[in-house]
Amino acid sequence: MHSRTSHEPFAIHDSVVAPGTQATVEIPVSQQVTGLRSTLPLRVMHGSNHGPCIFVSGAIHGDEIIGTAVIQRLLERLAPAQLSGTIILAPAVNIYGFAAHSRYLPDRRDLNRSFPGAEHGSLAAQLAHCFLQHVIDRCSLGIDIHSAAVHRYNLPQIRIASGSPYLSELAMAFGAPIIIESPLRPGSMRALAADRETPMLLLEAGEALRFDRFAIEVGVAGVLRVLAHIGMIDADDGLADVEVPLRSSRSSWVRAPRGGVSRRECKSGDVVREGELLARVGGLFGENPEDVISPTDGVVIGHATLPIVNQGDALFHIAEIDGHGHAGEHADSIVEALAVSEPPFPAAPLLDEDEVL
Ligand SMILES: [Zn+2]
Repeated sequence: MHSRTSHEPFAIHDSVVAPGTQATVEIPVSQQVTGLRSTLPLRVMHGSNHGPCIFVSGAIHGDEIIGTAVIQRLLERLAPAQLSGTIILAPAVNIYGFAAHSRYLPDRRDLNRSFPGAEHGSLAAQLAHCFLQHVIDRCSLGIDIHSAAVHRYNLPQIRIASGSPYLSELAMAFGAPIIIESPLRPGSMRALAADRETPMLLLEAGEALRFDRFAIEVGVAGVLRVLAHIGMIDADDGLADVEVPLRSSRSSWVRAPRGGVSRRECKSGDVVREGELLARVGGLFGENPEDVISPTDGVVIGHATLPIVNQGDALFHIAEIDGHGHAGEHADSIVEALAVSEPPFPAAPLLDEDEVL
């Protein structure tokens, strides 16, 4: 662990944060239609001791507010006097969508497809550029927290790019129930961070516009374990004695065979077998029900929470588990856990974070 007892203040925009203190900083973004200036609120927690600078962000999709709850609870648990390094907390990156309960910005753009952005670009481009300049470029690690879209639930899951042993190690430290390797989307924060060689973990957890206790607890515990693992806080990272997590590099959606009313027989987190009944969809009177059947062995990592469905609506997201002979097995060290959890084949295409289906 880094252990210098004093180091430089942290300068950001018009503020200087002394070691061992924290400050809220409002970064100017743009001007709204009414003439009001909009700002991006950040909390900078600058530790007493030297260490890395990382960020934790929520609501880059404005209606995915689980990260906001995770950050509020982290603020109750962390103290700059006990911190080595600096944490930039961004509880509502998409300030416009957050206020409007919307995934998007008022210009109807998706912030997570607008990176790196531009100072004189569209509203989304200005916000992306602001976040890049003041946050991502200052950090050596980012943890970005998302949830499923409206009327969907995601089992808490860490998404990482494939092929990085360091990201695998951090994902293992995070300790979410499942690690999913998924491709990087052009314009996304993860793709940009990868270009700049800033490692990023993406947590997908819970449902849009809802606080969910399990999703929040997984998020808080995971961030604290990562902080412990990289030496920013003095705590047990839990990695001396680990469970091998579930790991997946391919998944598929199962869709409604007819329009009508769905009765779910399973939920996110359930292990399912090929041919197993997932739900029945019938008419308004329950007539002519059709079975929804799992096409594969796997784990349900997401499901529709709205039972009123059109034919073709995505109902269940099922991840096929790599090397499932090892899943949940006890391991004596992170090295051993990493070794047995590595997928046996290169990652296949997998749906991106909470893709709108
Ligand atoms: Zn999202």
